[in-house]
Amino acid sequence: MDPFPMIRLTELRLPLGHDREALEQAIIERLGIAPDALEEVVVFRRGHDARRRGRVMLVYTVDCRVRDAGAVLAAHAGRANIAPTPDTRYRFCIDDGARIAAGPGYSRPVVIGAGPCGFMAALVLAQMGLRPIILERGKVVRERTVDTFALWRKSIFNPESNVQFGEGGAGTFSDGKLYSRVSDPRHYGRKVLEEFVRAGAPEEILYLSHPHVGTFRLVSMVEHIRAEIEALGGEYRFGAHVDELLVEQGADGARQVTGVRLHGGEVIAATHVILAIGHSARDTFASLHASGVEMVAKPFSIGVRIEHPQSVIDVARYGTRTPDPALGAADYSLSYQASNGRSVYSFCMCPGGTVVAATSEEGQVVTNGMSQYSRAERNANAGIVVGVSPEVDYPGGPLAGIAFQRHWERQAFLAGGGRYFAPAQTVGDFLAGRPSTSLGDVTPSYRPGVTPTDLATCLPDFAVAALREALPSFDRKLDGFSMKDAVMTGVETRTSSPLRIPRGADGQGVNTRGLYPAGEGAGYAGGILSAGIDGIRVAEAVALSLAGRPVDG
Ligand code: FAD
Repeated sequence: MDPFPMIRLTELRLPLGHDREALEQAIIERLGIAPDALEEVVVFRRGHDARRRGRVMLVYTVDCRVRDAGAVLAAHAGRANIAPTPDTRYRFCIDDGARIAAGPGYSRPVVIGAGPCGFMAALVLAQMGLRPIILERGKVVRERTVDTFALWRKSIFNPESNVQFGEGGAGTFSDGKLYSRVSDPRHYGRKVLEEFVRAGAPEEILYLSHPHVGTFRLVSMVEHIRAEIEALGGEYRFGAHVDELLVEQGADGARQVTGVRLHGGEVIAATHVILAIGHSARDTFASLHASGVEMVAKPFSIGVRIEHPQSVIDVARYGTRTPDPALGAADYSLSYQASNGRSVYSFCMCPGGTVVAATSEEGQVVTNGMSQYSRAERNANAGIVVGVSPEVDYPGGPLAGIAFQRHWERQAFLAGGGRYFAPAQTVGDFLAGRPSTSLGDVTPSYRPGVTPTDLATCLPDFAVAALREALPSFDRKLDGFSMKDAVMTGVETRTSSPLRIPRGADGQGVNTRGLYPAGEGAGYAGGILSAGIDGIRVAEAVALSLAGRPVDG
């Protein structure tokens, strides 16, 4: 019997604090069925609607098993919020991977990068029996944690092991937000979340509309995923910094990948290479560009991290300093169109979290945010960033966006006074156009420390102007947002990749066969979940190619 004859109900709204019975009653009423006809209820999604402060409602999508499901569905035919539950189970695209991998001359697929794109690609390849090799420039996650904390606590920076580089990728020291707005018709996001739960994430990530796992859990999750990949015949190599992609001209004139060269000279032969290097592998981008891989500059954003007391955000959003546990610490999402044509928006908001030093290059300062699962720190933080584009701001070719980022990150380092201190300014001083010489009631969380100064020295003029307009507008939407003591630290430059490595419908680089550009660095993802989804996508493209079957788009 099909295990999915369930009915999905969307937009079921209930007040905070309701019990299970109230949810079941709402389902019974919506479906117009007898109470004993409701056999099973599974919450598929739970979000909330906080548009009316103080009257927050929980909003459910549920899957129900009911008696005579066919008749119930027929009675409600045409209603948008009652429909058969879609089948979101993941199915591998090939089932003969082990046979393929045992064949003569089999060339194991290589995955460069052990971030969410790389480890999900490797996991799916391993589950299909294809025994991938994962090359990661950084260290195993526990050792990487020590290096990352050395920057935050002692100003000691390691260019190969930091917030951006090492097992788990860029999002390991993060809030671990696990949602995305990417189109996902094949439900790969569900597969990513299910694998995360198997690796130790709380089950609630499967149904909360805005789930997060916090940084500590992420560390042990990536270890579990590595163990599974290795148990299935995959192989991890750490400290394996890919310096060069090896490419040959095929008989038909097309460029074909033949392998990679590691720092130190070792060559690893491969016909299928997944490039999941993230947005900060600037040396690798330069090397790929030099070897002729097609890439184009793309827009990203620049700005600052802003910090408020979490209680200010809770009151503004929910009307209380002690939000209901079902809601947790309040978040926000803000946007504004400035009169100079620039978009300004909040980015990677971390309730109850800390601002972190996130550089991957020596002598530069970059901010980002993270939090623990509990989101219990005193401050809320978010990037407040301004859009930049290659046409207007860095018209010098595919690598020009990197030069632009480096310039402002260096300015931030200098304005911070060295030792990786970040420049900081209160919102009051920033709006008044005067440097901060001290800070007020909001204690900045950035480590190793901050230097009160003028952030206008480490941001382009247009960004300063756009931010000065946006902050009062955000204050009208979220009371207290431009409070004078809110602290801004800079600079936020790694919102997304400064370039894109285009690929065709078969997943391969448009001018390089056998190269599968993927994840955030190649411009195909913007967050942990979307990077994982893209990892599955390219793993399938590789598997189908190894099996000699077409990719069906
Ligand atoms: P990455 O995660 O960047 O992984 C790339 C990997 O490739 C790295 O491990 C790197 O060491 C390796 N690598 C690079 N070059 C080479 C080379 N030449 N040879 C070998 N290995 C190489 N997203 C969210 O969705 N939610 C959040 O809460 C969140 N918070 C964040 C907080 C911080 C502090 C940061 C920095 C990012 C955050 N992000 C968050 C963004 C998220 O981390 C990224 O979108 C995601 O990690 C991208 O995945 P990826 O696999 O494409 O690349």
